Amino acid sequence: MYTRAGEKFQKIMSAIADNLQAIRDRIARAANAAGREDSGIRLLAVSKTKPLSDIEAALAAGQTAFGENYVQEGVEKCLALGVDRGVEWHFIGPLQSNKSRSVAEHFDWVHTVDRLKIAERLSTQRPAHFPPLQVCVQVNISGEASKSGCTPAEALVLCQQVSQLPRLQLRGLMAIPEPADDIAQQREPLRRLRVLFDEIRAAGLPLDTLSMGMSHDLEAAIAEGATLIRIGTAIFGERNNA
Ligand SMILES: *Cc1c(COP(=O)(O)O)cnc(C)c1O
Repeated sequence: MYTRAGEKFQKIMSAIADNLQAIRDRIARAANAAGREDSGIRLLAVSKTKPLSDIEAALAAGQTAFGENYVQEGVEKCLALGVDRGVEWHFIGPLQSNKSRSVAEHFDWVHTVDRLKIAERLSTQRPAHFPPLQVCVQVNISGEASKSGCTPAEALVLCQQVSQLPRLQLRGLMAIPEPADDIAQQREPLRRLRVLFDEIRAAGLPLDTLSMGMSHDLEAAIAEGATLIRIGTAIFGERNNA
């Protein structure tokens, strides 16, 4: 049936499909410029604050991995969409101890583990019949007082500890560098995270995920070796309340 709501959804669907294609093109160009295969770069669509209909639109356009920052909102979306839609849910927001159980029970990945205590809780709370929770350790790579993340100096030991926890699978490192306009300035902290990633791998931990790069710096992140980029605004548009 033809309805105004249906018409509006069609418009949103085609805008999101176009934005996703534009991002895939940016990824391909940046990978090419860096001499990398674009198949080595995963796209996480950051849907925080956006309605479920936007996620439906992105799903229809072939996007299956989604990132959420707020536990309650993310869990509501997981439950509303159901488990049989083939969606992979990534938690990318600040993680408080009292919310860890919801994350362990509803998400596939967590990018923001920055202390042992939270990792231990997630491991204990991960249901036994689920696959292990996929984990990145968040590093405060720009040393900003206001940002979460362990210090670069703490990262190796925390990775070693996380890798020992039975219900977690350590995958890599994540960072949110201080924003910068200039690409050379953007690349500097991203390179530091990549070097740290290489050092931790050299110490024997099998990391395969370098989670860095957002709408404004994905080219810099791909140039520095990102394997997973987290894109919100460039797919779903500006957020009102962010
Ligand atoms: C919101 C957010 C993003 C997406 O940022 P955009 O600039 O909208 O692409 C990526 N990572 C984290 C951790 C975020 O909170």
